[in-house]
Amino acid sequence: MYTDLKGKVAVVTGASKGIGNAVATRLANENMKLVFNYNSDEAGAQKAVDQIKHEGGDAVAVQANVAKEEDIQKLVDTAVEHFGTLDLWINNAGMEKEAPTHELSLDDWNKVINVNLTGTFLGTKAALNYFLDNNKQGNIINMSSVHQQISWPHFADYAASKGGSKLLTETVAKEYAEKNIRVNAIAPGAINTPINAKKFADPKTYAETAELVPMGRIGKPNEVAAAAAWLASDESSYVTGDTIFVDGGMKLYPAFNNGRG
Ligand code: NAD
Repeated sequence: MYTDLKGKVAVVTGASKGIGNAVATRLANENMKLVFNYNSDEAGAQKAVDQIKHEGGDAVAVQANVAKEEDIQKLVDTAVEHFGTLDLWINNAGMEKEAPTHELSLDDWNKVINVNLTGTFLGTKAALNYFLDNNKQGNIINMSSVHQQISWPHFADYAASKGGSKLLTETVAKEYAEKNIRVNAIAPGAINTPINAKKFADPKTYAETAELVPMGRIGKPNEVAAAAAWLASDESSYVTGDTIFVDGGMKLYPAFNNGRG
């Protein structure tokens, strides 16, 4: 438990399922007050909110498309109206579209960039404005990916969005460090969430993916949430502009194992 988190207020985007749901739930269990953002899956977000309230915590589910500036403002306004302030913003919402790059449609490219990169920019901007207007030493966490570092054929849209997110994190961290606003990223590897449901339902693909991980297994959403809780807390008070990889060693080039290469 991170006792300094008690009573603080967080917004987590894309919190209806997967990693966002696990992160928001973990923070609520740390006694934070939570805005669970969802885009279309109201039931997923509401189920988690109901459970938190049942356990004596405080949370609210709010619809917003992170690619729309007015929707992002709605999330800030909800946090302030319901809970009186905003301390932590987590840009988690994300998506991917698979296609060889020469066949990738502009529409799919724009969809992924709009959610993953522009959505992260809009959330960051809104949180910064609240922190600056209210003289807050706020905290921002961006859910990136190992693909901010590892290139990924057939997912140029996704890799480009996460590469962009990396330098957005580092730039904004440097820009607002003197205000004591911290900005960090988490780069998950292969995590068992709905985004991978189809892929991991096939035992062959599941095993092939696990082979890309030196630890030999797929990660769990709560293992990512643990990193988010640490970055949210004062235990990480001197950390900014950094990325924590939660990937079982995936970025360590497992193909070079056992003397190969
Ligand atoms: P997921 O598909 O299970 O969840 C994604 C969430 O984002 C959903 O709640 C979805 O509704 C939301 N979302 C999508 N578009 C949105 C929009 N326009 N506005 C608001 N919300 C929107 O995926 P996940 O695995 O939980 O992914 C969460 C984050 O973690 C993403 O940024 C993803 O890129 C990143 N990530 C995941 C993995 C993995 O293996 N699962 C690995 C690396 C990075």
